[in-house]
Amino acid sequence: MISTGIQTAAYLFASILFILSLGGLSSQESAKRGVLYGIVGMAIAILSTVLGAGVNGHSYIIIALAIASVIGLIVARKVEMTSMPQLVAILHSFVGLAAVLVGFGSYLDAHTQTLIGSEHTIHLVEVFIGVFIGAITFTGSIIAWGKLDGKITSRALAYKGRHAVNITLVVVSIVLGVRFAMAPETSGLIDLLIMTAIASFIGIMLVMAIGGADMPVVVSMLNSYSGWAAAAAGFMLGNDLLIVTGALVGSSGAILSIIMCEAMNRSFISVIFGGFGNASTGEAKEIEGEVTSANHVEVAEMLKEAQTVIIVPGYGMAVAKAQYPVFELVQKLKADGKTVRFGIHPVAGRLPGHMNVLLAEANVPYDIVLEMDEINDDLPKTDIVLVIGANDIVNPAALEDEGSPIYGMPVIEVWNAKKVIVMKRSMAAGYAGIENPLFYKDNTDMLYGDAKMSVDELNKAL
Ligand code: NDP
Repeated sequence: MISTGIQTAAYLFASILFILSLGGLSSQESAKRGVLYGIVGMAIAILSTVLGAGVNGHSYIIIALAIASVIGLIVARKVEMTSMPQLVAILHSFVGLAAVLVGFGSYLDAHTQTLIGSEHTIHLVEVFIGVFIGAITFTGSIIAWGKLDGKITSRALAYKGRHAVNITLVVVSIVLGVRFAMAPETSGLIDLLIMTAIASFIGIMLVMAIGGADMPVVVSMLNSYSGWAAAAAGFMLGNDLLIVTGALVGSSGAILSIIMCEAMNRSFISVIFGGFGNASTGEAKEIEGEVTSANHVEVAEMLKEAQTVIIVPGYGMAVAKAQYPVFELVQKLKADGKTVRFGIHPVAGRLPGHMNVLLAEANVPYDIVLEMDEINDDLPKTDIVLVIGANDIVNPAALEDEGSPIYGMPVIEVWNAKKVIVMKRSMAAGYAGIENPLFYKDNTDMLYGDAKMSVDELNKAL
């Protein structure tokens, strides 16, 4: 057992570590250190909470911790880089579920009944809001998991008048909340249950209404919601550290959502209310031109001739685990005196920073990894662009076709380079499920095949 003073000091220390952790995660060089701060902070947080005053049943807690740690370890070891987004989404759902359970537990707790006057009302409001946010986060994250895992269609499920329905449901929830806050003892349980069902439905509909290419914003938005759900649980439990941690996650997730919205040219407000993924105004344009392909020997010859090369990786590079041979290719080209750089789109892959993580894993130096805005102006001066397993993020329809669902999203304008090689297995669409006119451009050749196999072949040919 530790005293309240020591616990407060430990909480403060853990909060500082969490802030340092977030700071560390803001750059690739310091990311590992950031993760370490997070781990130490969390260990201190758990220990000081479990050992704090008023906590009983340590044997149960130890058993629960042991089981959960084993499951966590197994899942984290087994998960493929390509399934990481689904894992993150499902973890968000746990935070939501935890907030709902804490809410119900706290409402039914005998201690709640001993509170009187405004203290009692404030606690009930905390419970109601916590359960509301938690339920939305829980079901919304499960739908996001299904969409990212391909178990649920990535198309937007939008019906006429859904905003009116959502607003009505929120108003009904507010009315239930007022009744709940005024109900004596635990007689408000039924209102709480009805609101939980309503919020669960809102969570499902919010994420179902978002389609294809807009999913990245949903992931970061649910990240933010899970933070607020944790903060709400902190209020219910009177735990300051949970409030601080939840607020950190909630606000950093909100900032990430704003950054992602800017990257995708979407309005943050319409994201929060859901259903912004179907902004297209009409039919997509008919694509003109013919698809031409090249084999790896021809592409190797083109690379030998080139002086400047830009590599644009996408989700397919993650699927193929091609990052290692890609770095080998970079080293070969650089040894030949060529300028080689990477162009990274903010929503490439299936997770913010997905490509950066893969390239860092393969030890690609950070100084040749540039963001979309840094690389776009250099493309007209570039001899050859290798698009490796990317599709939506290099789709010219985003700029040229007002009828396209991704119209308005900034993309890497690879077609401005002298030559473009697209490495993928077929003509299949990407995550947004739309055709790509890039493949039909005169200066584009397809190099068909698994990305890792193709890059291995290129390495051999070079
Ligand atoms: P895309 O999903 O648009 O395209 C990936 C392409 O990779 C596919 O067309 C596929 O074509 C190809 N591919 C798949 N496996 C292989 C393989 N083994 N070898 C070679 N190619 C392969 O990916 P992008 O990275 O271009 O764009 C990301 C998309 O995902 C965007 O629409 C984005 O909005 C969305 N998204 C992003 C999230 C994020 O946070 N980054 C989160 C959720 C969604 P083929 O089958 O012919 O090989």
